[in-house]
Amino acid sequence: MPIMSSEDFSVHADDCDEVGDGMPISDLPDEITSIEDLECQCWDEYETLAEI
Ligand SMILES: [Zn+2]
Repeated sequence: MPIMSSEDFSVHADDCDEVGDGMPISDLPDEITSIEDLECQCWDEYETLAEI
């Protein structure tokens, strides 16, 4: 399940080390339309949004 950071509202994988205080979200925000929109390195293991 993705996590949204409460600091900058960036979205991270649930095992991300970068996001400290975050809120689990069941769906990605609408503005995330491709894996490229997820800038954190925690997404590097994913190749498509469908895998998340
Ligand atoms: Zn991350």
